[in-house]
Amino acid sequence: MLQPLFLPTKAQFTSDLTNPFYTLLASSINTTIIERQQIRIMKMAINDLKPMIEYARKLHGHVGPYVVIGLRMGTAAKKALNIGDEEAALLTAEVSVPLHPPFSCLLDGVQVSTTCTVGNRRLQFKNAKNVQAIFSSQKGARTVKITLTKPFREQLEQKKKQDKLDEAFAWEIAELPENQLFDVAVKDSMSSSVKVLR
Ligand SMILES: [Zn+2]
Repeated sequence: MLQPLFLPTKAQFTSDLTNPFYTLLASSINTTIIERQQIRIMKMAINDLKPMIEYARKLHGHVGPYVVIGLRMGTAAKKALNIGDEEAALLTAEVSVPLHPPFSCLLDGVQVSTTCTVGNRRLQFKNAKNVQAIFSSQKGARTVKITLTKPFREQLEQKKKQDKLDEAFAWEIAELPENQLFDVAVKDSMSSSVKVLR
């Protein structure tokens, strides 16, 4: 690959690491590459979610933070249980949530992302103060429990107080890394051991 004249070569980087200019330049180049990779990964994630969010808008009538939380919960569950879209019929969901909007909007997000619906009886739900979803896979007799992380719960509280649980915040949630949103614990019924994925 051609090196621009003003840039040191890779050999110069490694042979002249004591030169503060090269060290600074190397670290700034690395940061840029890592940042670009992160942006690319985030764009991929949002591109995958976008059609699902628009589908949820059609079903639910609007896009709010809890719709997107439900979508992301379903997506996280399928990933944790290694269930592809074509195997979604193997999933069942039990969701605990305050049964009034905006919180209950989460249920429609789960329905869209998992095909666990009220109609096909693969979605059970109950009224509860705290949000929690347990997904089971008939395939491997595994379950995954998904709860909201403490910092994310605090952020939601804050937004509620500011009356900002709006669509703009919903799209922000769509782009946040999964481990900022959820605590994910997979349980294998055979071994009864719980593996916490963060
Ligand atoms: Zn809603």
